[in-house]
Amino acid sequence: MARYRDSVCKLCRREGEKLFLKGNRCLSTKCSFERKSYIPGQHGQTRRRRISNFGLQLREKQKIKRMYGILEKQFRTYFAKADQMKGETGTNLMQILEQRLDNVVYRLGFAPSHAASRQLVAHRHLMVNGRTVNIPSFLVSPGDEIRVREKSRKMDSILDSIRRVKGDLDLPWLELDKAKMKGTFIAVPDRDQMNIEVNERLVVELYSK
Ligand code: SF4
Repeated sequence: MARYRDSVCKLCRREGEKLFLKGNRCLSTKCSFERKSYIPGQHGQTRRRRISNFGLQLREKQKIKRMYGILEKQFRTYFAKADQMKGETGTNLMQILEQRLDNVVYRLGFAPSHAASRQLVAHRHLMVNGRTVNIPSFLVSPGDEIRVREKSRKMDSILDSIRRVKGDLDLPWLELDKAKMKGTFIAVPDRDQMNIEVNERLVVELYSK
């Protein structure tokens, strides 16, 4: 499957904000956005165009895709699914994205970024309800238990990442047992519980044209 292979820091600079795609580095002084917050490219520092309504909608869609590490085709599929569900399409879309296994593993603190989390899942280090799942886009359901496989519990990357989780998780829809390296997806989160600053309504407007 096609993947974005250039520097992910350029994506933050393109979107004009930190998307936290590189784990611990994003919180350090090494973050490139802290040093170069302008758009990448030769004219990045001088480009000052007014952005159209369409441009705003497009940028918001790109930002959400990049935050979750999803390509266009899959994002479209999620949107179509969200549109068929009851309730607000934008909220449904965000809820589907939060239910992805790679996202849940990241939120539980087993990995420092979505990319690292996707790799952990793909390399079969995680189990859902006692069965190994290696599909990052697997959608977790309320009540599902996600745990690190027994033989993966000594991996430095996982141990380092869990060590960085201070106290209890601040996410009411997830429960974490650090000692047992397992978590539970309690419920699909409400939109106001998600501390994610994106305007998904702009995506709905974009795709509704
Ligand atoms: Fe973005 Fe993280 Fe790179 Fe900073 S270090 S630019 S937040 S991906």
